[in-house]
Amino acid sequence: MKEQKTNFETAIVHAGYDSREHHDSLTVPLYQTSTFTFGTAEEGERRFAGDSCGNIYSRLGNPTVRVLEERMAELEHGEGALAFGSGMAAVSAVLIHLTKAGDHVLCSRGVYGCTFGLLEMMEEKYNITHDLVSMKTEEEIEKHIRPETVCIYVETPINPTMEIVNLQAAAAVAERHGLKMVVDNTFCSPYLQNPLLLGADFVLHSATKYLNGHGDVIAGVLIGRDKPEMENLRMTVQKDVGGIISPFDAWLILRGLKTLPVRMDRHTDNAERVLEFLKEHKAVQTIYYPLDEENVQVETARQQMRRGGGLISFEIEGGRKEAQVFMNALSLIKIAVSLGDAETLIQHPATMTHAVVPEEQRSAMGISDSLLRLSVGLEHADDILRDLDQAFKQLKTDLQQA
Ligand SMILES: *Cc1c(COP(=O)(O)O)cnc(C)c1O
Repeated sequence: MKEQKTNFETAIVHAGYDSREHHDSLTVPLYQTSTFTFGTAEEGERRFAGDSCGNIYSRLGNPTVRVLEERMAELEHGEGALAFGSGMAAVSAVLIHLTKAGDHVLCSRGVYGCTFGLLEMMEEKYNITHDLVSMKTEEEIEKHIRPETVCIYVETPINPTMEIVNLQAAAAVAERHGLKMVVDNTFCSPYLQNPLLLGADFVLHSATKYLNGHGDVIAGVLIGRDKPEMENLRMTVQKDVGGIISPFDAWLILRGLKTLPVRMDRHTDNAERVLEFLKEHKAVQTIYYPLDEENVQVETARQQMRRGGGLISFEIEGGRKEAQVFMNALSLIKIAVSLGDAETLIQHPATMTHAVVPEEQRSAMGISDSLLRLSVGLEHADDILRDLDQAFKQLKTDLQQA
């Protein structure tokens, strides 16, 4: 494992960029160009042959995008990174890279809806099968390994019930069976959790969420522990499937990324205040937060997460109607999917992010009709609590009138 050269907060501002190579520009310049010129025909020949390292064409590499990639590799303790035009482009790139027809992928019990959709499509079209299983212990994981299993694909905490996958247990099983392990680290960001340090081979992010943090970009990043493998991925799946990021979006993420540690601490401080508030509220039945003392998995969460993060789910008394009345009564808190933005967002998994999951499977996953997921933002905690409080009061009067 590579030793970290600088502290996280310093690397996130400086890694991968030397102003002397860019006309002394303090910030990373935006190279908004599709192609690059060759001084001579022979120079073009050398670049294509790989004998000269200059730029060729932005699908094969762009200087603004490269800074983002090098910075992310450093932050996740990897040896290489690739930026993509969406989180799903990163997910599909790594799965295309690791699998072929007949292979099997072992997944954590919950994965992002579109990741599940992709796995279903791969099964139907290419006979690449998958299983979704609970991954709390090595035994639980190991019993689902088949001769054709090639990779373990994990999300933790799992959306929206915050179930924790034990990353060290999964990595131990992966190593024993010679499998690659991939972790979607979107919910934590590299500030709260570093799966490569716990034994994973690849980490990916929907950069749309905490990495960018400002709600104005869709993007993804894939980080790997093996440099030649990542370079191979760049010149195969990324180049030929082509889900690349635009230089402008990479530039916006570089801008947003600088404040990630500051933002994550504030998101978490605010989420901890929301947790306290919800615990005191009579209309709240269940609360899901990784570092809640009452969470049965709190020890595992604490081992692999630096703090609990900004996402919190809770069930209110009643069902779908009550959940919708409550959401409509909010005013500061916006109703929207996505997460990790400055604005506090609320969504209803049963009718939004998990609406495609059959009801029976939904309830097995703990997603009831009154479950709500909050992405706690950067507003003053008092104002977030005041909005929640007034919505609970309005819910009570609305239901009495109905
Ligand atoms: C949003 C999200 C994705 C997909 O990312 P896009 O940028 O929307 O393509 C994947 N995984 C998780 C956990 C997400 O929250």
